[in-house]
Amino acid sequence: MQRRQFIQTATGTSMALSASLFPFAARAAASYNVIVVGGGMAGATAAKYLRLWSRNELSVALIEKDANYVSNIMSNEVLTGKRPSVSSLAYSYSTLASKYGVNRLQGTVTAIDAINKTVTYSSASGNVVLTYDRLVLAPGLDFDLMPGMSSASQYDTLVPHAWKAGAQTTLLRQQLLALPDHQNVVITIPLAPYRCPPGPYERACVIADWLKTNRPNSKLIVLDANSTIQAQPGNFQKAFDGAYGYRVDYRPGCTVTQLQLVAGANTVTFSQNGSTQAVTAAVLNPIPPQRAPALLVDSGLVSGRFAPVNLLSYESTLKPAIHVIGDACSSGMPKAGHIGNQEAKTCANAIVNALKGNQYALAETSPVLNSACFTPLTSSKATWLSAVYQYDPAKGLMVPSTQNGVTQPKVAASATKDNYSDMQKWFSTLMGDTFA
Ligand SMILES: Cc1cc2nc3c(=O)[nH]c(=O)nc-3n(C[C@H](O)[C@H](O)[C@H](O)COP(=O)(O)OP(=O)(O)OC[C@H]3O[C@@H](n4cnc5c(N)ncnc54)[C@H](O)[C@@H]3O)c2cc1C
Repeated sequence: MQRRQFIQTATGTSMALSASLFPFAARAAASYNVIVVGGGMAGATAAKYLRLWSRNELSVALIEKDANYVSNIMSNEVLTGKRPSVSSLAYSYSTLASKYGVNRLQGTVTAIDAINKTVTYSSASGNVVLTYDRLVLAPGLDFDLMPGMSSASQYDTLVPHAWKAGAQTTLLRQQLLALPDHQNVVITIPLAPYRCPPGPYERACVIADWLKTNRPNSKLIVLDANSTIQAQPGNFQKAFDGAYGYRVDYRPGCTVTQLQLVAGANTVTFSQNGSTQAVTAAVLNPIPPQRAPALLVDSGLVSGRFAPVNLLSYESTLKPAIHVIGDACSSGMPKAGHIGNQEAKTCANAIVNALKGNQYALAETSPVLNSACFTPLTSSKATWLSAVYQYDPAKGLMVPSTQNGVTQPKVAASATKDNYSDMQKWFSTLMGDTFA
């Protein structure tokens, strides 16, 4: 009997058993060779390539809580109206199912049993337990509360971080539209590592560009916990200093100590160079410190803020047969969608090799990953940063490549319209590689 047939048989059997024996408990529904949790940039890519590279022989389930994925990449453009709405950034899972045979399940994974190799997810029809040979976790991030906040729901109603695109992105757009002229917008940036190193500075630029035309007397203040701009410092500093017709009041080394949340009149207290100061913000966009989700912490997969992994396979160094990819892992590379897509391929290759043997996928000893990040600085001009990382066996780390004598990362000289047009092509290629 082929392995695939065995899986289908086992699936039917376990469903029948669980329904009759445990009517009130979680139902054991099916076994899969690989279960992927989280259908974002990393998880969707992993599910697709696990099927492709195993020649459709590995059974793969993708459990994602939302009906569609909403891309964070390009979501800053929704804030300024350049993109009409977050729905223009929605990606369906239907092609992963119909073209590649990924079994897409909608629900929220609530528990992992690393010993019995099960995951439990809650769905519209109740709790379901699935078993796996390998588990791939790609759930993105959790966000800390900022000092002075009492509940994460304040991000949904008062001060959206919008660092996961969706309803908070729409709320931040609405708050900008309601901003009276002469009033401040304040963005706070957490200490690195955080999701998308250039992202906060990109956000500052596109909002400042929008204010220039729409609220010319308003000011944008950026309070950065880091001592320097974390990506493309030359390009962003030039933009902040007026190269594109707007200015940003950028303040490095600022530690936020208290937020006082009052709709339309928030106060941010912070320390900089040992002195305590405060600014008011009619629109406050606090980008919080980030960490691997509680599910991973509860499952013993996290050390510090993120999940340590073997960079040849993305298998957890703390629990066998569980792989962590994307922003939740500590790979030493930037937390970025393009990097998540590449990590997913290294991980899929290693799992196919482990489960099917090397006539399907080669044992990888020296992966090389590439990534690009395009950054709009105005509504029509963008810059970019690209980087190639290679595995350093002596250190066990991914390090900027020195191949061909090229220094990494590479950065665009300035923001141009050509870069903006290349950005659209890069984005649709990356999203196509992930979801289509
Ligand atoms: C404003 C902004 C701009 C950005 N621009 C760029 C850019 O230009 N280039 C770039 O490369 N990157 C960019 N990024 C970063 C990029 O979006 C992230 O690095 C990337 O999305 C991380 O992928 P991920 O798969 O780890 O997480 P996500 O894409 O967040 O996906 C995680 C998925 O897991 C699901 N999930 C979570 N928990 C569970 C659970 N328990 N059960 C079921 N499902 C669950 C979530 O619903 C989500 O769909 C940007 C980010 C932001 C915020």
